[in-house]
Amino acid sequence: MDCIFCKIAAGQIPAKVVYEDEFCLAFHDIAPQAPVHVLLIPKKHIVSAANLAEEDAEIASRLLLAVPKVAKLLPLEEGFRVVSNVGENGGQTVPHLHFHILGGSKLSAVMA
Ligand code: AMP
Repeated sequence: MDCIFCKIAAGQIPAKVVYEDEFCLAFHDIAPQAPVHVLLIPKKHIVSAANLAEEDAEIASRLLLAVPKVAKLLPLEEGFRVVSNVGENGGQTVPHLHFHILGGSKLSAVMA
């Protein structure tokens, strides 16, 4: 699979990993858009949130449940933002489902 995030999940490409479990991996974004910018991905290749299927129910819940764990590790007690871009109009550049977890300062209210 020629997917950069699959390669990171497989340990074939280095990343600054902050959290890992059976289903998910979280690592620092290579081009941070906030003082703290981490990407949380499922280890399984799922293209985007638009491609989640019933069979992914456990992965989807594990991914969401990993959010507070990652936030606690960073730490981001004062709040953070979770964003998942979907497809071309959503601004998605890597076609492997990921949550951007952004924080470390007060973020602007408006989303680009
Ligand atoms: P998106 O544009 O929503 O698909 O987000 C993709 C994100 O992946 C961007 O914020 C990139 O900076 C980030 N990214 C791309 N390649 C890497 C990499 N090798 N390691 C960490 N983050 C990456």
